[in-house]
Amino acid sequence: MQYEAPETTKAAVSLLAKAKGSAYVLAGGSDLLVRMKGGYVEPDLVVDIKRIKSMREVKKTATGFSIGAAVPCAALTENKALTKAWPGIVEAAGLIGSKQIQGRCTISGNLCNAGPAADSVPAMVAAGAKAVIQGPKGKRTMPVEDIPVGPGKTSLKKGELVEAILLPARKPKSGDAYLRFIPRSEMDIAVVSAGVNLTIDGKGVVTAARVALGAVAPTVLLVAAAAKAIIGTKLDDAALEKLGEAASAACRPIDDKRGTIEFRTKVAAVLAKRAAKIAYTRAGGK
Ligand SMILES: Cc1cc2nc3c(=O)[nH]c(=O)nc-3n(C[C@H](O)[C@H](O)[C@H](O)COP(=O)(O)OP(=O)(O)OC[C@H]3O[C@@H](n4cnc5c(N)ncnc54)[C@H](O)[C@@H]3O)c2cc1C
Repeated sequence: MQYEAPETTKAAVSLLAKAKGSAYVLAGGSDLLVRMKGGYVEPDLVVDIKRIKSMREVKKTATGFSIGAAVPCAALTENKALTKAWPGIVEAAGLIGSKQIQGRCTISGNLCNAGPAADSVPAMVAAGAKAVIQGPKGKRTMPVEDIPVGPGKTSLKKGELVEAILLPARKPKSGDAYLRFIPRSEMDIAVVSAGVNLTIDGKGVVTAARVALGAVAPTVLLVAAAAKAIIGTKLDDAALEKLGEAASAACRPIDDKRGTIEFRTKVAAVLAKRAAKIAYTRAGGK
């Protein structure tokens, strides 16, 4: 196995593009190294991106935030400006594994690992986050929900990597929240999860919303019907009920030892409603 740790994005892309066998990006390694140790993958090339300076930065830009692909989750939970603007994203990043895991792992790695239960992905999808992709044909930007296409599979082409995650600028009176259900308090994978991001007007009426669910389908779901159920309302009980119904209706979960189809479908509604309430309060709604 060839291990490379380039210092520029261009060099990383060039290595990945020229690779003869299987090539993997290494960010925090908290998924990749576990899969290598378990014998599930045997890369011919590993390209470590942690030495690329521009990928280790969180930048506040005119259009929001840019989170480099090598920034560990611990740096996100310690970033006050990001926490103020996007508390839901930060709480999702702060749920991944443990402090030790968060010292290494990245939200880009969480996204590109393409696990249906990845914690930061519903929060990013609800936020309307975009991924900056660099590849042999140059740079492109796409919504994060278009990157995972199935368990363990992404839409990234040969030689491409995620360089950064872009979060939009925060509109006034907006809030987001992320919640997951796990059978214990930490170090577990979400059985169901929900991310909600919304904006309200001066009267407390929801003017925009995005609702995303995790672990209830092969990829994270952006549930437009759930958002529609609360737009134009003050998040009263009837609106919350409709939100929950839309969330449950969108679920296509599997039955496994972690949760049944029935359980996941029911809990998706509960979490979506709770996350919406938290996001509403964070937006300044009463
Ligand atoms: C003990 C433990 C507990 C965990 N708990 C959780 C949890 O609670 N919630 C959760 O969601 N996950 C959990 N995980 C899984 C893992 O920590 C996360 O998915 C993490 O965010 C992965 O990030 P990473 O930077 O370590 O990714 P890596 O392991 O470095 O990469 C993961 C995959 O993405 C690819 N990749 C990485 N970065 C890029 C990039 N920039 N461009 C293109 N491809 C890329 C890699 O090639 C690899 O296939 C846990 C793992 C462990 C070991």
